[in-house]
Amino acid sequence: MKRYDVLVVGGGPAGMSAAMQSAAAGASTLLLERSSMLGGTTNAAGVNFPGIFHAWGRQIIAGYGWKLVADCVAQSGGKLPDFSTPPARHWMHQVRVDRSVYTLLCDEHVTRTGAEVLFHAMPAKAEALPDGWNVTICDKLGLQAIQTRCLVDCTGDANLVALAGGTLLDDGPDKQPGTYVCKAGGYNNADLDMEKIDAAFREALARGEVTAHDAGWNVNAPKASRWLYQRGENANHIPGIDGRDSWGRTQLELAGRGSILRMYRFLRQQPGLENLYIEFLAPQCGVRETVRIDGDALVTADDYISGRVWEDALCHSFYPIDLHTADGSGLKKIELEPDIVPTVPRGALLPKGLKRIAVAGRCVSSDRDANSALRVQGSAMAMGQAAGAMAALSARDGIDMRDLPLNSIRALLEEHGAIVPEPANKN
Ligand SMILES: Cc1cc2nc3c(=O)[nH]c(=O)nc-3n(C[C@H](O)[C@H](O)[C@H](O)COP(=O)(O)OP(=O)(O)OC[C@H]3O[C@@H](n4cnc5c(N)ncnc54)[C@H](O)[C@@H]3O)c2cc1C
Repeated sequence: MKRYDVLVVGGGPAGMSAAMQSAAAGASTLLLERSSMLGGTTNAAGVNFPGIFHAWGRQIIAGYGWKLVADCVAQSGGKLPDFSTPPARHWMHQVRVDRSVYTLLCDEHVTRTGAEVLFHAMPAKAEALPDGWNVTICDKLGLQAIQTRCLVDCTGDANLVALAGGTLLDDGPDKQPGTYVCKAGGYNNADLDMEKIDAAFREALARGEVTAHDAGWNVNAPKASRWLYQRGENANHIPGIDGRDSWGRTQLELAGRGSILRMYRFLRQQPGLENLYIEFLAPQCGVRETVRIDGDALVTADDYISGRVWEDALCHSFYPIDLHTADGSGLKKIELEPDIVPTVPRGALLPKGLKRIAVAGRCVSSDRDANSALRVQGSAMAMGQAAGAMAALSARDGIDMRDLPLNSIRALLEEHGAIVPEPANKN
């Protein structure tokens, strides 16, 4: 049987950061990923604009995730935004990364810390031991047992916490819609009569050849021109499907690719778009929301918007409340007031009633509105590093993560380049 100090499940922004921190702190670490590559939503779902690492003129998230993002920009000839002043729109401080170079660098950054990676595998069972966990995984040849002192769930969907017997927060079927990203080429906006194309889209909609969700986030004003201006990137909504399990995911993939196929067929019939082609099709549909864990602490929208500095804060998060409505009417958005920088407490990373297991990323313990901000990639990376630090220390000292002195977690995080919220780190 294989044995590790720390098993991290899910190799997205949170999981990579957790594994890098854990391995760099000296814990033998396995990162298990169900797909063929690290990166998660950033590359697998084509959402290649991680954010947000800076707020109000200063950097508030650094560490392993930021190093990866900055390295990608440097190596691929990109340019970082000017972070010295707050931007007119929050997304201007997100960092666009080259999807292919990012994928290559994820492997390099993670493995050079000493973390081992296993692709094409998922956990099937998790049983608590007095001093750790027995996890049964399913790889290409079937079931296999792994013993570990600590677990970190970075699946985004709390899949591991569910297997371990934890409780989940689920607000019912009205989840935020997913989005299937592609990138279209073969046309110049300047050559197109956008009004005419929008009118043709409305007619196609009336004939049932396309749906309102295919061309935008607001079903009351769907516009093929918006899809064209965005070249298909983050341009549709795939509503009404819960992607927590493989059945839901399958429905999402089929519905998402169906949406892009409808747009492709429609657009290629329009004047000036005869040569439209799809140069990039994301490997999978992007999922905004499934479930969160029920943790020792719950981050509410009030906590988030007020910039509460939790006593056990381990990292920052920064993003507007950004909830895509399930009814297709658009977005619920609340911008943060000047100088507000929300924090994430240790308690939100620890599932109630379970020991030696932490979560990080999208399924952190939070209410729905707070989660719509906490879920973004920069925050997921910061939470991941915090969870990785806790797991490494917990494995080393043989104690549960909630019993670790906060000072030792914060010191390890700072030693590895993370930014720990103040004044909490003065405790
Ligand atoms: C359309 C869309 C637009 C977005 N826009 C932005 C934006 O502009 N800026 C921003 O920063 N964020 C944005 N986000 C949010 C952000 O991308 C995600 O919330 C973020 O990637 C969450 O990170 P994570 O590590 O928790 O999960 P994920 O990125 O989902 O990574 C989870 C990883 O775990 C793996 N995994 C899942 N289940 C299992 C399992 N059972 N076993 C093994 N492996 C498993 C997955 O394959 C994946 O690699 C957007 C999201 C979407 C869908």
